[in-house]
Amino acid sequence: MDITFYSLLEQNYSKYTEKTLFHRRFKHDAIKKLIKSLSSNDFYAVKELGRSVENRAIYHIRFGHGTTTILLWSQMHGNEPTATQALFDLFHFFDSDDFTKEKAEILAQLTIHVIPMLNPDGAERFQRRNALGIDPNRDAQQLQAPETRLLKKLRDRIQADFGFNLHDQTAYYTAGNTPNPATISFLAPASDIAKTITPTRKDAMQLIAQLNDLLQEFIPNHVAKYDDTFSPRSFGDNMQAWGTRTILVESGAYPNDQERQLTRKMNFLLIMAAFQSIARKDYKNYNTDQYFAIPDNQKEKLFDRLIRNATIEYQGSSYQTDIGINQHEIDSSDHKTFTLQSEVMDIGDLSMYHGYEEIDATGMKLVGKLELGKKANFKLISLRPT
Ligand SMILES: [Zn+2]
Repeated sequence: MDITFYSLLEQNYSKYTEKTLFHRRFKHDAIKKLIKSLSSNDFYAVKELGRSVENRAIYHIRFGHGTTTILLWSQMHGNEPTATQALFDLFHFFDSDDFTKEKAEILAQLTIHVIPMLNPDGAERFQRRNALGIDPNRDAQQLQAPETRLLKKLRDRIQADFGFNLHDQTAYYTAGNTPNPATISFLAPASDIAKTITPTRKDAMQLIAQLNDLLQEFIPNHVAKYDDTFSPRSFGDNMQAWGTRTILVESGAYPNDQERQLTRKMNFLLIMAAFQSIARKDYKNYNTDQYFAIPDNQKEKLFDRLIRNATIEYQGSSYQTDIGINQHEIDSSDHKTFTLQSEVMDIGDLSMYHGYEEIDATGMKLVGKLELGKKANFKLISLRPT
């Protein structure tokens, strides 16, 4: 991997960002406007692929003229918009006059198909599921949702060689046994219960190994691999079984980046790197051991705030405990903004957990109400009067 090129790309990234998508709660209207301007650009073939349950247009953008077909789809879950932003950044990048040599190589080898915002009805409500309450990523077999039918139909029509299943994950996963949030998590989904490493899956693993290598340059120790238990109803697993080398990308959090704009930039870089690698068949130089060496995505090992060694008093006795608190995003009624509300997630020995913010409350006591599952509504004061 040509690190110099990716460093330059990273330095120039702000030139390509789609400035209207800086907050995660953008809606279909915002996409519609951007699609309109893409349609007037000869470089892109833009079509309406079909409609959502509530009749919102789902778009298909095609570019490149190679024989290898790539399919990328984002926001199958309506409240997972990070990759959608990055895809529009990529459209600006390919439309720019920069890095023409690198782009020409990709465009000669690949034909790239993009579905940004597969679930616009979910995005409208900033929710995971579609307007029927169906989780599109558990509908790969039944294909009851119009949105998932469109995805399957396009895959079959273009016989996608590679598929990028672009999601967001919660902020509370860590990269292995580190205190670091998993900013990007990858998976080469299994296509059967035995998790067989089929030739299709192997290619996906090799590509991920290379992408991990690149990301380590930018977000060291913030990359993880997702659990590969076979999920028979999910798209990644089925895509892999249908013969599309499938890569799941989960966009996670990074400290002090509530709107996940660094993660968005990492999506931009990793998708570009994937294009280049596939065009050059570079991923063939990596192996599955390198894939398996990526640390596991560890579930729920992080809190927004972790208070250690606080003293609590109850019925005249004192106890020492840790307290884990998360800040939930509570949406406004139009789902365009949010406020944060704290919740006490755990009380007890949390020594193996981590916090985005950690407070050592040794020698301090808690005054106020401490109740599991409730709003954190207390103060810490020094045990010793000053
Ligand atoms: Zn998702």
